[in-house]
Amino acid sequence: MIPASFDYVAPTSVEEALAALAEHGDDAKILAGGQSLLPVLRMRLNAPEVVIDLNRIDALRGVRDDGDAITIGAMTQHSVVGSDPLVAEHAALITKAVAHLADHQIRHRGTFGGALAHADPAGDLGAPVLALGAEFVIAGSGGTRTVSADDFFVDLFETAIGEDEILTEVRVPKHTGWGAHYEKFVRVAHQWPIVAVAATVKADGGTISEARVGLTNMGSTPLRARAVEAALAGQPASDEAVRAAAAQAAEGANPPSDLNGDSDYRRHLATVLTRRAVLAAAGA
Ligand SMILES: Cc1cc2nc3c(=O)[nH]c(=O)nc-3n(C[C@H](O)[C@H](O)[C@H](O)COP(=O)(O)OP(=O)(O)OC[C@H]3O[C@@H](n4cnc5c(N)ncnc54)[C@H](O)[C@@H]3O)c2cc1C
Repeated sequence: MIPASFDYVAPTSVEEALAALAEHGDDAKILAGGQSLLPVLRMRLNAPEVVIDLNRIDALRGVRDDGDAITIGAMTQHSVVGSDPLVAEHAALITKAVAHLADHQIRHRGTFGGALAHADPAGDLGAPVLALGAEFVIAGSGGTRTVSADDFFVDLFETAIGEDEILTEVRVPKHTGWGAHYEKFVRVAHQWPIVAVAATVKADGGTISEARVGLTNMGSTPLRARAVEAALAGQPASDEAVRAAAAQAAEGANPPSDLNGDSDYRRHLATVLTRRAVLAAAGA
């Protein structure tokens, strides 16, 4: 289908983009890589009067070293994030997850910030950034504010970004030296996950000192498997110990039922995928 007609603006700075948002309010929609927005417009699930394209704002692209964190610009394409050496060294969990996100064409167009702002509970980036304790920098007419990953994902396709705000960058605390693994369960390659688990583990001499585990598609937002994380601390990176901890993966989750699997099936998957992800991240 062809989208309803709309006006198009392509600002070259965040300030200009914010001014356009302030001018058009609810009638405007931001365009990043367009990989989720364009299908929505073509199906006429949304019909904004103005599309504000962020692609000419160079300041929103790139990865930089910020001391104890790395900062990823919202308009950085998945393909760039996935091959960036800083991300690989300090936030390997993101590198691993991006490798599983859709196909090459979508990774070439789609952006890190666009995927997170879209907040699809089946999106592959939410669980890793949640597990890594990322912070989201959001710009509005009154300046910028920072929102923790715990507060960023509000509900299905809903985040803490206001109607008149723009996500500008994501700060990811360095997890240098931590093992990482993203275990994604799909029926067909390049699909959205039925369930996926993001695990990053700090292990010393075969003992897990700290683990962070995020769940994809186990509720209306990405979730932390906090019971698993607590159970893993101080345990050996053995199949027996990790299996026992992973049995709690679905605690507190409210997974959906759909044609790919019902809620109970997803609960079971979460335990199996958590065991695999943690063992792989621990190098066991
Ligand atoms: C066939 C197909 C398969 C896919 N498979 C997967 C998959 O397996 N896993 C996965 O994770 N993703 C998948 N995707 C989605 C992909 O990751 C998209 O890149 C992502 O959802 C949207 O990013 P985008 O940059 O294209 O954003 P857009 O589509 O341009 O925007 C998405 C939404 O976010 C808003 N937005 C964008 N940027 C900002 C910003 N900086 N500030 C505020 N709001 C903003 C837009 O207004 C819009 O509402 C798939 C997409 C397609 C088409």
